Amino acid sequence: MAKYLGIAAGAGIIVYGYRRIIDAGKKLSSDQRVVIVGGGYAGARLAKELNGRGDFTLIDPKDALHHNMAALRAAIEPGFAKKTFIPYEPSFGEHFKQGKVIAIDMKKQEVSLENDPTPIPYTQLILATGTSGPFPGKCRHDKPTSQLIQLYENYTNEIKAAKKVVIVGGGAVGVEMAGEIATDYPGQKEVTIVHNSDVAVSPKLVPKAQDMITEKFKIKKINMLYNEKVTNLSDLPINKQTEGLKVKLSSGKVIDADLVIPCFGLYVNSDAYKDALGGSMNERGQLKVNENLEVVGANNVFAIGDCNDYDEVKLASVSQTQGSHVYKNLINIARSKPLEAYKPDGFRMALPIGRDGGLTQSGTKVLGDFMAKFIKAKDVFVSMTWKEMGQKPPK
Ligand SMILES: Cc1cc2nc3c(=O)[nH]c(=O)nc-3n(C[C@H](O)[C@H](O)[C@H](O)COP(=O)(O)OP(=O)(O)OC[C@H]3O[C@@H](n4cnc5c(N)ncnc54)[C@H](O)[C@@H]3O)c2cc1C
Repeated sequence: MAKYLGIAAGAGIIVYGYRRIIDAGKKLSSDQRVVIVGGGYAGARLAKELNGRGDFTLIDPKDALHHNMAALRAAIEPGFAKKTFIPYEPSFGEHFKQGKVIAIDMKKQEVSLENDPTPIPYTQLILATGTSGPFPGKCRHDKPTSQLIQLYENYTNEIKAAKKVVIVGGGAVGVEMAGEIATDYPGQKEVTIVHNSDVAVSPKLVPKAQDMITEKFKIKKINMLYNEKVTNLSDLPINKQTEGLKVKLSSGKVIDADLVIPCFGLYVNSDAYKDALGGSMNERGQLKVNENLEVVGANNVFAIGDCNDYDEVKLASVSQTQGSHVYKNLINIARSKPLEAYKPDGFRMALPIGRDGGLTQSGTKVLGDFMAKFIKAKDVFVSMTWKEMGQKPPK
């Protein structure tokens, strides 16, 4: 037995060593200058893969990656927000450039930044500008990290003070937000989700997963109103605890509330490319890509993550996989090899409903609290994401 274990361990070490040697040889060519626009999960993954392999620049208006998979925990747990902003500089050093890309010159192959007269040239351009949306799920790109952390810290007090919370939107973000509140303040707040569809979270969730959500809502006393719309949202103070709010619904019903949280309405960040690549965008502002994730109708331009139209559920994990795929193709370009087509993984989702559980779905297989807690609910991917950036989270 010991002999076989020894052989297996030896073979493992040889394969590992071989892979390390092969991997070390993967470099950009000396004339490649890669520019990545957007340092979310997609852009940061690609930057990580390229680090030490040649000339690249990662551009983002913020000085830190917003780990927005953990944004809702930051909205509820005092002291947590600092774990959700991971500075770029320690990870990428001089390869990181703070700024907002406002134009692309496709002929000259260069990008221009707001408030910076010097354009940045590229041989390959990777657009990874993602989406924006309402706080607290997303946050602004034009504020310093210290202010963004403070916004989340202040928000924990709005939730603490509220007694009747209405969450607008029953997608993954709304359901996760409701779970966080109902779990951290059990029986202390009325939590209602207003959802404009008859399916919670995503039509990709199988009936067993939908049943689990219903069951969780019962246990945690979360009230989900399906097929309803808030009709007076523009008259209501958003994200601010305010006594005596009346939330009007499309059915004519009125709900009393003292805090309204918007959890809907993501839009694609297309400012960087809407002029240069208008003809390559779909009606949602996403860039149309081919099987290699190259932007259709453009030369030497790729799009990864939430800003492309690849037919896949938009998730951080998917964005990272696409980032890694484009890395492979940049190395293929360096070696004058043909590009490889992107092959998506199957559908996978971890949906926490509070820090003590939720559900996961992989393909059509659904698992409950234990797996949801293990995968996401417990630390909302904080350790994993800091590790991905080669850093340690603050205590
Ligand atoms: C609350 C919440 C929880 C979520 N939880 C999960 C989860 O558990 N698991 C999961 O897989 N997915 C989750 N998602 C989805 C996931 O966050 C997105 O799919 C993911 O962020 C997409 O990554 P991205 O890199 O494409 O874009 P983004 O993360 O949106 O990043 C885009 C980046 O581009 C930058 N940028 C934009 N415009 C410009 C410009 N003009 N110039 C330069 N830079 C620019 C932005 O500053 C930003 O840093 C969650 C989403 C939300 C809102």
